[in-house]
Amino acid sequence: MKKNIDIIIMGPQGSGKGTQARMLAEKFDLQIFETGAIIRNIAKQDTDTGRKINEITNIKGDIIPWSFMKEKILGQKLNELDQDKGIIFDGTPRIMEEAEFWSEKLRKVGRNIDYVFYVDISKEESVKRLSIRKQCREGGHSLIVGKDVKEEETKCPICGSEVYRREDDTPEKILNRLEWSKKLLSPVIEYYESKNMLIKINGEQSAEGVFEEIIGYIK
Ligand SMILES: [Zn+2]
Repeated sequence: MKKNIDIIIMGPQGSGKGTQARMLAEKFDLQIFETGAIIRNIAKQDTDTGRKINEITNIKGDIIPWSFMKEKILGQKLNELDQDKGIIFDGTPRIMEEAEFWSEKLRKVGRNIDYVFYVDISKEESVKRLSIRKQCREGGHSLIVGKDVKEEETKCPICGSEVYRREDDTPEKILNRLEWSKKLLSPVIEYYESKNMLIKINGEQSAEGVFEEIIGYIK
């Protein structure tokens, strides 16, 4: 197997891609580049960038403008990565500019994306899972009740912070969010499909089943 494998994992909310990213990171000794977690951490910082991100994402509920995202977040975080270790990208790229950004950055250091996995689940399954999901306060982990966390459990099994149910996890709002992110992501999916890089994985099976399917492709 190649020494530093670079993997992108994508999928709709509720597909369990975060769990797969963690399992892959452990198996192949990869660094996880998780945009959502990075943004949440920066938003907590009392710096110019932190305050701006907090205002955009937490107060206004908007999407961070791409130019800002590129300069202040991705570029800087990329420099902190260990060059001798493979990377798993979780939750990025979300838009075409981001996909091109990663291709270019990796090419510059003599690397490339080796695998792009899309963990596919139906809209109905997504809604079903998200309706019984809880979040954790600190790590932003998405936990499926009965699968990742017990109903009565109050602490996140991954980071130990408090778990709660999001108020906006109603079927209608979930559907809206799914449609919205699907619309944004579809050019990215087509881009990797056109390069024959997209590997679709059946996400409607156990986490172990999904994992087996994924690692079957890694040579
Ligand atoms: Zn957590």
